[in-house]
Amino acid sequence: MKNNHFRTVNPSTNKNIPIDYPQASIEEVNQSVILAKDAFISYRGKSQIQRAAFLRQIIVCLNNLKEEIISICHLETALPLGRLEGEFLRTTGQISMFADLLENGSWVDAIIDTAQPDRKPTPRVDLRQMLIPLGPVAVFGASNFPLAFSVAGGDTISALASGCTVVVKSHPEHPGTSKFLANAITDALSLCDLPEAVFQLLQGDTHQLGAELVQHPEIKAVGFTGSFSGGKALFDLANQRPEPIPVFAEMGSVNPVLILPNTLASNGDEIAKGLAQSVSLGVGQFCTNPGLVFFVDSEGSDEFLTTLDKLVQEIPSATMLSPSISGNYKIGLTRLKRTPKLTSVTKGIESEDANCARTEFFITDFDTFCSIDYLSEEVFGPVSLLVSVSEEQINSIPRQLAGQLTASIFGDPQDLIRYKHSIESITHLVGRIIINGYPTGVEVTHAMVHGGPFPATTQVQSTSVGTQAIRRFTRPVCYQNFTQDLLPDELKDDNPLMISRKINGIIK
Ligand code: NAP
Repeated sequence: MKNNHFRTVNPSTNKNIPIDYPQASIEEVNQSVILAKDAFISYRGKSQIQRAAFLRQIIVCLNNLKEEIISICHLETALPLGRLEGEFLRTTGQISMFADLLENGSWVDAIIDTAQPDRKPTPRVDLRQMLIPLGPVAVFGASNFPLAFSVAGGDTISALASGCTVVVKSHPEHPGTSKFLANAITDALSLCDLPEAVFQLLQGDTHQLGAELVQHPEIKAVGFTGSFSGGKALFDLANQRPEPIPVFAEMGSVNPVLILPNTLASNGDEIAKGLAQSVSLGVGQFCTNPGLVFFVDSEGSDEFLTTLDKLVQEIPSATMLSPSISGNYKIGLTRLKRTPKLTSVTKGIESEDANCARTEFFITDFDTFCSIDYLSEEVFGPVSLLVSVSEEQINSIPRQLAGQLTASIFGDPQDLIRYKHSIESITHLVGRIIINGYPTGVEVTHAMVHGGPFPATTQVQSTSVGTQAIRRFTRPVCYQNFTQDLLPDELKDDNPLMISRKINGIIK
């Protein structure tokens, strides 16, 4: 492995932040995972109420360090303070939601099929099922959500809520933020008298570190948010292990938007306004950024494009998260600019400042879109490709799309009925389908799905946002013929936790 320390860069100045962070060694990876395995034996035995109390203590400890976290995070990511305040609240809010889930207790999906000793021709045994935690989990945070999808983000918290222990490989571009977030969790563990190794942080800026972690035989699952190349590399490594493990990688998406003809004619101005805002939000650095917009070349399309142009020209540039993200954005834009039959239709205000990006929209026709594969790939940043289609081509759109986190359909009631088969086909390609709304702004709720078919994720049956995210780090186990005293409380006849259960096929 390279140097035993690393630094990160302030993206606003392009200068090194003069703080050295120790680079974890391969030996430390091994030690951490062994400790996480031992801690799992104790932690998995804690009740849901004890785990909920731990999560609530993490919130207290995060709040104690809030000022330090936000100030270093601002330095390391250039994200505005207001945005970081909001993301901090989202982070503590999602921890609180998982604590509520544990206090309610019913998420374990308890199912009881009672014995039928008199059943003919053979008696039926007593069978009881519930979800149990998998074991030590490796978590990789994203650069674009340094709080909500990072060290104390949704993956870590849902794994800890499930009863798993966690080893985080933090994102190398916000090591100071990661350290403070980890300190809050470690403080909470100590205050709750839980083993230190329930949560551990590994810092470093080499792929080797993450690769070793995923391949460690005692790691039982992986949570990842970031690039397609990173997620797929870790997924492949996990599948090559003697014991393959699930990798829940949430990667990129172009989040197609389809604007149907009636609504374009009647509401084009409003749609243009929302689109300009959604594409430029957070300098386009959201995995739900609407990077592809199909609109019907019909009455209203000229007005829609004129309004979009006017609005985009007023959008200021802003600093991206890192020199590498800004560099990749420039490469993506250059490729679009060099593409025949594709033109830039509108741009935001330019800036010479370090790592600044401006919002930009390109336009092409459907045949060109269909003939060039990379036009359906994500360019991470405030850019979107408008594709003009005829009414006849609308039904062909789903065939041109790979798996996505989201798709948005704009239509009036008549449009929606007329194109309901296309909408249904698109539904089968995405994790979340939106009517008359934009994909940015992922609510953290029970019903949210932030996932979708490959290549948006490597595990189509899961979500990384919302309470259902806890299921990723669990598996069902069936207890056959267990006596009452041996059963977990969740499955005992007298239901001491008073949770909702399915008994002989009926939810009670
Ligand atoms: P990233 O480069 O994939 O990094 C995420 C984490 O994975 C980091 O800890 C990184 O650390 C590690 N990693 C990356 N490649 C690896 C490999 N081959 N082997 C082992 N570990 C690896 O993601 P990012 O820096 O957050 O963003 C870069 C790109 O990801 C963006 O341009 C965008 O396209 C996409 N993105 C998607 C989402 C989303 O929510 N889906 C969010 C953010 C970004 P090391 O580099 O130290 O190994």
